Amino acid sequence: MTRIVIAGGGLSGLSLAAHLAVMDHRHPVIVVDDGRNPLSAKAWASWSDRPGLLDAAACRWFDRIRVHVNGTTKVLRLGRYRYRVVRGDDLASVVRRITDPLRHFTFHEGHVDRVEDDGVVVDGQHLRARWVFDSVIGPAQERPADALLSFRGWRVRAERAAFDAEIPTLFDFRTSQARAASFVYVLPDDAHHALVEHTSFTAPDATTDQAAQREALAEYLADIGPYEIECEEHAVLPLRAGQTPRRNGNVLTIGAKGGLLKASTGFGYQRVQRDSAAVAESLHEYGHPFALPAESARFRLFDGVLLDVVTREPAQLERAFGALFRYRTAEPALRFLDEATTPPQEWRLFAGMPAATYLAAARHRLVSS
Ligand SMILES: Cc1cc2nc3c(=O)[nH]c(=O)nc-3n(C[C@H](O)[C@H](O)[C@H](O)COP(=O)(O)OP(=O)(O)OC[C@H]3O[C@@H](n4cnc5c(N)ncnc54)[C@H](O)[C@@H]3O)c2cc1C
Repeated sequence: MTRIVIAGGGLSGLSLAAHLAVMDHRHPVIVVDDGRNPLSAKAWASWSDRPGLLDAAACRWFDRIRVHVNGTTKVLRLGRYRYRVVRGDDLASVVRRITDPLRHFTFHEGHVDRVEDDGVVVDGQHLRARWVFDSVIGPAQERPADALLSFRGWRVRAERAAFDAEIPTLFDFRTSQARAASFVYVLPDDAHHALVEHTSFTAPDATTDQAAQREALAEYLADIGPYEIECEEHAVLPLRAGQTPRRNGNVLTIGAKGGLLKASTGFGYQRVQRDSAAVAESLHEYGHPFALPAESARFRLFDGVLLDVVTREPAQLERAFGALFRYRTAEPALRFLDEATTPPQEWRLFAGMPAATYLAAARHRLVSS
């Protein structure tokens, strides 16, 4: 029997395990995780227009979002999309419910020291495998980042009912754009509890100004009355618009290490679901995991151009989001961010953005690539 090792049991490792399990192949699968990044501390929000294998893990579903852009607040319906939140522990339980009845799935606690062509080294021991899926080590040489997505979020408990429990705020540009293209994101649990996150797109060599992020959050929350910060999360995600080489012999990188974060948003959940389904399908159909859909060069160019423009001229992010989300529903914008639009639809979406700025950035990218 050919053994499969999945290095890392976070979002991509667990999602892949579940998709392999439902594809009915009989190879032994071992998921190895050292617990350094506990699932209990994680939650992923994402949008989708179709049912997914792990939907039972979602704890919240929303059919509207709020945006504040170019001086106006709007509540937008999502059309065929839904915005949902999946907590790490719930994802793990749903995946275990799928894999536990199958004896050939094992979850092993251990530290992956190295990933090799014929397996992985876990706590000094070599574990042989035919195929390795790697979400922890990544390629020996990563492409340089095109930009950084730097965010700091507070889980807030407000004394009065300060949040709209039914409508998350996808972006609110009422925060300073002086240092970087920035917005505030609000994901409510209920009227008193929410994750309030300050998000900035910065140049790859920029350093995070933690004090400025906290100041911006405090300023944003100034009107909600007394509140307590229950916990803080922060991260800096490297955003790469170029294609990440994923295959190295029998190893395929998955998740963030496999370049699956969308470069212009930093979202990865839905792309990881699609990728997991494609990997499982490839193994089932061809006996190897590499027959994956080709990535779109056009959308990579759009992402790269947006990052180039907004890291140079921060005010352009609000303009771009204003143009994308100017319709009655958020569906056209979400479809574009899902890379499921056609060129004529894209030209309509781009109307309202400064053509000369974007064309110059696109030309520069194409010439220097
Ligand atoms: C704070 C934060 C919030 C995010 N929020 C969202 C969101 O709301 N929506 C969205 O779409 N995207 C979000 N993202 C982006 C992306 O979806 C997540 O980073 C996602 O978790 C990436 O999945 P992954 O499998 O690559 O990594 P992870 O989910 O981090 O999984 C990696 C796993 O590997 C384990 N591990 C690491 N090193 C080793 C080792 N050497 N040996 C063994 N195990 C190891 C860790 O314990 C972890 O469980 C967020 C990212 C961050 C950092």
